[in-house]
Amino acid sequence: MTRIEHDFVELSFDDPRGTNRLDAAAARELREAVAMIAIADRVHGVLVTSRQSGFVAGADAVEYSALLQKPQRDVETVARQMSESLRALGELRFPVIAAISGPAIDGGLELALAADFRVMSATARTGLSQVRLGLLPHLGGTARLPRIVDLGTALDWISGGNLFSAGAARSAGVVDDVVDAATVRKHALDWLTRAASGALDWQARRRAKESAVALSAAEIEDLCRTKTTDAAKTSPRHQPAAIAAIECVRRSSQLDLPQALQLEQREFATLAKTQAAASLVQAVCNEILLKTRSNQRAQQARRVQQSAVVGAGIMGGAIAYASALVGTPILMKDIAQRQLDRGLEEVDQLLARQVSAGRLTVEASQAVRSRIAPQLDYLGFAQVDLVIEAVVENLGVKHAVLAEVEKAVAADAIVATNTSSLRVDDLAAPLARPEQFVGLHFFNPVPLMPLVEVVQGSRTSDATLAAAVGYALALGKTPIVVKDCPGFLVNRLLTAYLLGFAGLVFDGADFVKVDRAMEAFGWPMGPAYLADVIGLDTMSHIIDIICAGYPQRMTTTPLEPTKVMAGHQRFGQKSGVGFYRYETDPNGRRKKVQQPDSHQLLATSQKSGTRDFTDAEIVERMMLPMVLEAAVALEEGVVESPAALDTAMSLGLGFPKYAGGPLQYADWLGLDKVVELSTRYARIGPLYRASDELRRMASRGGRFYSE
Ligand code: NAD
Repeated sequence: MTRIEHDFVELSFDDPRGTNRLDAAAARELREAVAMIAIADRVHGVLVTSRQSGFVAGADAVEYSALLQKPQRDVETVARQMSESLRALGELRFPVIAAISGPAIDGGLELALAADFRVMSATARTGLSQVRLGLLPHLGGTARLPRIVDLGTALDWISGGNLFSAGAARSAGVVDDVVDAATVRKHALDWLTRAASGALDWQARRRAKESAVALSAAEIEDLCRTKTTDAAKTSPRHQPAAIAAIECVRRSSQLDLPQALQLEQREFATLAKTQAAASLVQAVCNEILLKTRSNQRAQQARRVQQSAVVGAGIMGGAIAYASALVGTPILMKDIAQRQLDRGLEEVDQLLARQVSAGRLTVEASQAVRSRIAPQLDYLGFAQVDLVIEAVVENLGVKHAVLAEVEKAVAADAIVATNTSSLRVDDLAAPLARPEQFVGLHFFNPVPLMPLVEVVQGSRTSDATLAAAVGYALALGKTPIVVKDCPGFLVNRLLTAYLLGFAGLVFDGADFVKVDRAMEAFGWPMGPAYLADVIGLDTMSHIIDIICAGYPQRMTTTPLEPTKVMAGHQRFGQKSGVGFYRYETDPNGRRKKVQQPDSHQLLATSQKSGTRDFTDAEIVERMMLPMVLEAAVALEEGVVESPAALDTAMSLGLGFPKYAGGPLQYADWLGLDKVVELSTRYARIGPLYRASDELRRMASRGGRFYSE
């Protein structure tokens, strides 16, 4: 807080950590500063600025996470205390101007909305993104924005959770002036001078903000109804925040500002106790934790300057593309020219899509393409830092290829495998340098799937692991380190889930109904549809391998549904028919339709005929095996933390975001409830048996995520 020219006070946010955040501590400081300004002599205006490169951001996920653990009443109290700081600023006896010199997100924009005028840098972005965390603005955003801009725009900003450019903010009327980044403070000071002199009617602005929205009750109802219908179409399932935010604005529009603020605080506290908010906030905390851990690891590693991939199939071609796209040249070797050509065709298609979407220029796409060197021999392998083996999934073939690769590369090169079902330790058998061997399990389709399981064999060195993590990070992926075990993490947990599906079908469930129930639960696709997309031959093979790896909990039979389908040459989407049939509509889009004889094929495994299951029972029988297997994997140290496990399941399998991941979901249910369900379903088989450790945790009221 500094006195500046014309008897103005400059209130500067300057968090030594580098990013100004309007968290509880900053709100307290603001309150104290405003109280001092309010009683100071000869003050005619306040300029709110930032001394950091950004303006101000909202509280971070870690602070939200702690807040969300509190009882609802306490959450409301905290929201009120913080909100009052901004209210005090907006009630000073003289004009207040926000100089938005950098990004003003969430709490930062709410702070600016408490000012009378806003001057913004042309390069900054702003918005209210709280609904993305399952929350709504709680520092006056829902109350002030509809009183500053037209109601429709305010509803879009609040319920959409998007960020906007300065130009868009200016057109919407959210800010009053957009100027060159270097001159924001100077212009804001000019606005303040004009307001203080009476040339700008700042009091009229304030009056508009203090009173109800200037629309009739019917107009408000109409608009809110339309926006609610739109939000219901676009909101992810089980994420109530967008609709709750519109409802909050609807109810508060006709109130005065203090009442509107109060309502907002109450609604914020209600949302804070929802499953979606808990999971979405935890997911961001998990991301932060994992990123920090991965960066720490990667820092210890030498950077991969030149890479290579062996096998130019579906995965090899896409890995080459991913590497070349981020600027790391890659050799791509295969044994067949035809395969190399197909691999390059795939790369060309991916690049063409980038060009037509405007993400790459033609020249840039040619530069990417030139970084991929297709070849039938090992020429140049002596210069590579890291090689990824992506040949067919066959132990014998992989052994031969890996031994060849090891001879072709320099003594310090890292060799990785993209195997999806073989053990890293088994693959390492013929290698002279197993400590330089690691799993890099990419998911299909590589350009869309952010997850890479980095698999640590029992002899993989930390340095090798670090280099593999660094490479995955350089490709823009989220690496999750997993210990070598059958199926690694994602396929292992997927198998437990699909065995739950098999059990339901054996007991007479209709697979279409199971799919519907699981989609209603929040999965992007039900289990039968998912297996069709993965490929039923691939899936049944994975199930076999994983069941062989965990015979004490997982067993399969020739009647397992994916096997039945694959046995009839129905491989799912890729062959046009699996559980469902896949057709192409006139617009070239793939469509899933019912395949009438699928039920007949599965009837052979339904010894007691068909039976109707409730959605609740379907969800329990599907989710429990995955949750219980997740608990075992964590106990075995397959992943380092619940954060790693849940993130992998979210990114690798599309675990419903509102539920977080298997462990977050278990915490939400309560571990005692998980154990109770396990006891209820124990008769089905060991797939439903809770581990002793999980029972112990449940009995002492434990959780996977400590508070
Ligand atoms: P693919 O059949 O499409 O491609 C395999 C390629 O390896 C072919 O181009 C083949 O010519 C080549 N090849 C075979 N022997 C070779 C040799 N001795 N030297 C060089 N190249 C050789 O297979 P894919 O689907 O790309 O799978 C490759 C690996 O990735 C497998 O280990 C698979 O388990 C794993 N994976 C696949 C997926 C997926 O969904 N396809 C997902 C994750 C991991």
